[in-house]
Amino acid sequence: MSDFTLLNTKIIATVGPAISSFEMLLAMAKAGVKVFRLNMSHSDQEAHLEVIRHLTRINEEYHFHVGILADLQGPKLRIGKIKDQAIDLQTGDEVIFTNTPCEGTADGIYMSYELFPKEVAAGDKVLVDDGKLIFEVVDTDRKNSVRLKVLFGGILSSNKGVNLPDTLISLPSLTDKDLKDLDFLIGQPVHWIALSFVRKADDIHDLRERLQKAGHQARIVAKIEKPEALKNINEVISATDAVMVARGDLGVEVPIEKLPGIQKEIVRRCIEHSRPVIVATQMMESMIQNPSPTRAEVTDVANAVLDGADAVMLSAETSVGKHPIRVVEAMSRIIAETERHYQPNQNRLPKLSKDSETFLADVLCYNAVKTSVDLDAKAIIGMTTSGFTAFKISSFRPKAEIFIFSSVAHMLSTLNLVWGVQCFEYHYDHISTDELMNKVLQTLKNKNLLSRGDIVVNTGTVPVQKEGRTNMMKISVVE
Ligand code: PEP
Repeated sequence: MSDFTLLNTKIIATVGPAISSFEMLLAMAKAGVKVFRLNMSHSDQEAHLEVIRHLTRINEEYHFHVGILADLQGPKLRIGKIKDQAIDLQTGDEVIFTNTPCEGTADGIYMSYELFPKEVAAGDKVLVDDGKLIFEVVDTDRKNSVRLKVLFGGILSSNKGVNLPDTLISLPSLTDKDLKDLDFLIGQPVHWIALSFVRKADDIHDLRERLQKAGHQARIVAKIEKPEALKNINEVISATDAVMVARGDLGVEVPIEKLPGIQKEIVRRCIEHSRPVIVATQMMESMIQNPSPTRAEVTDVANAVLDGADAVMLSAETSVGKHPIRVVEAMSRIIAETERHYQPNQNRLPKLSKDSETFLADVLCYNAVKTSVDLDAKAIIGMTTSGFTAFKISSFRPKAEIFIFSSVAHMLSTLNLVWGVQCFEYHYDHISTDELMNKVLQTLKNKNLLSRGDIVVNTGTVPVQKEGRTNMMKISVVE
């Protein structure tokens, strides 16, 4: 088992051929991965199902609470097949993009978006293959075809992704493929569902309604990768359960030099709103091939930790990389070292507001954290069914450990994404609050997480049977 199980900043690993066997997933969980991401853009549902079964078995047999994050592809635009695999486009050339399926040549390249000719305007930029090729719209017939000038040329090959940073596209945020994937996921024990290319709060509301209708408990991650989402960032953060700074597409859609500032501001706003936030993409990219990261990558991971991100995500490094275990170990070491220097930004912690629906519980969680500071307490303990106490206490970024108990196994895995939260399952029915707290302390002592003389701040709900919001705080010294 890794020495890094108690890190505050969580590691998310994307599943792919390099780690999809039971043995590799188990080794990754032991190395410190807290959440596994299924990228619905790749692999078929059968392959995802097998991974979900492996992870469920790992949780049951090895008493982990690894979370499963299913990442929907969203309205990703693509060009179609190119004749003879590729064309070499020179800067200054003109090409036609069309919504009529065809084998692509410079006279007609299929683009998988019916309304493209209607919604673009002259001067809009069109970026292909992660921005490696750059085009500008010259004119459009508003029906079938768009003439583009090549601003930066190169080899254009089949099925490459397209980004339209200047164009307000009207595609629904859940495509036909996403709806099929959602139908599949609704029957599965996934803890988080990520929505790609979110533009506004309604995108989240739509997904939430579908999940509620199906009675599924998964929480929603809004992937921020469009300028429109940045414009609507406050409403998006309010509507969602968590956020991902999806730097891959975001770095194509906005000038790349803006990424660090955007990342820092989104992380700050998420903490203020008590929403977990993930920093994603190219964090340890060179380790897809190499056995150790570059200096720049080490500093990038460290910066995400110093920003206060809840989680850092690995993509190709773990899905297809050569050293998936080493990359998790290297990332864990960077996190462990950097967390010693982390100072939460006191001006950007959640504010208490009488208008909050959860005002009383907000005040209680705030004071539990404040008390832990005053007492230099070892731990804050929370009991939760809905997850609220864990999200809230974590967002005040306490120095004390956060030990969260829940009888809802699904919630424990959900909370494994959240900064500093360490989860434990309990099933103590029909006992008093005093007995419950004693049992919880005993459990933590047995696991060597607490020892005699440690000061702890317990939070909970009385009467205990009511399972309402947290309304009680108690200070105790471990005997
Ligand atoms: C990203 O764009 O950074 C991202 C995480 O999304 P995907 O890997 O699905 O492109």
